[in-house]
Amino acid sequence: MDKPVVVNRRVFFRGVAVGVPLCSVVLASTGALAQTAATDATKAPAGASPAPAPKLLPDNDATAKALGYSPDATTAKRVKRGAVEAKDQFCSSCQMYTKAGTIGTEEVGKCLMLPSGAVKAKGWCNSWVKHV
Ligand code: SF4
Repeated sequence: MDKPVVVNRRVFFRGVAVGVPLCSVVLASTGALAQTAATDATKAPAGASPAPAPKLLPDNDATAKALGYSPDATTAKRVKRGAVEAKDQFCSSCQMYTKAGTIGTEEVGKCLMLPSGAVKAKGWCNSWVKHV
């Protein structure tokens, strides 16, 4: 009665011994592990080349004009939105913004509304939504 259990245990461990390395090979070949490594690229090891500098949104971007984007929020006609005063609205506090780096000394980021280039952290447009 106990014999089949021993055989099943052997089969189980033999399967683990073969299956774990096999899964690693399959994941590596499908790029799943490479994708994980790419996600951690923001934590580049010392000596690694830095990510390329982001490029600013072109001045003639039609969507930016339609949204009233200004690279300097203080010059834009902002109005209070909900509990957020106009003076506190910047791209950097917008739900659509993700920091991408710096150009010179200025922080810039990606905007979901303006995919053609980076927006300035101190910019603003009519689509500003409070970052939650
Ligand atoms: S949607 Fe937000 S991040 Fe994008 S330009 Fe407008 S204020 Fe800036």
